[in-house]
Amino acid sequence: MERTYVMLKPDAYERRLIGEIISRIERKNFKITDIKMLNLNKAMLAKHYAHLVNKPFYSALEKFMMSGPVVAMIVEGENVVQGIRNLMGATKWLEAIQGTIRGDYANNTTENLIHGSDSIENAEIEIERFFGSK
Ligand code: UDP
Ligand code: MG
Repeated sequence: MERTYVMLKPDAYERRLIGEIISRIERKNFKITDIKMLNLNKAMLAKHYAHLVNKPFYSALEKFMMSGPVVAMIVEGENVVQGIRNLMGATKWLEAIQGTIRGDYANNTTENLIHGSDSIENAEIEIERFFGSK
């Protein structure tokens, strides 16, 4: 069965939206097979966001991602990688349509509540990074 890596960001925790977002994932009938809360550090973030470390917004992103705990999950289901991306909505908050998590709750492109892997290959890399071999 396909798996993906999902991470609820510190704004989801701060805004008390953890339950709401998990409910949306479960209502879609995706299965959470592991879950934990953790605090990220600079080294973990530099690996996770390696494609962004040279962007002008990276230091703000890093600060935000270390501002509180994240909730890390392994989520399983048919076509779950794309399915979670659909539930999330677009990266840029103004492009995220209503009914998606970002469309309904985000008004900022950095503080956008949720991470979901962008490919099956990256999902396995991210699961290994945050949960070890499973
Ligand atoms: N991000 C940002 N400004 C941007 C683009 C991205 O702060 O212009 C942040 C945002 O939190 C985003 C994360 O960097 O979720 C990772 O960016 P990516 O392009 O991988 O978007 P995602 O896969 O999260 O939709
Ligand atoms: Mg991404």
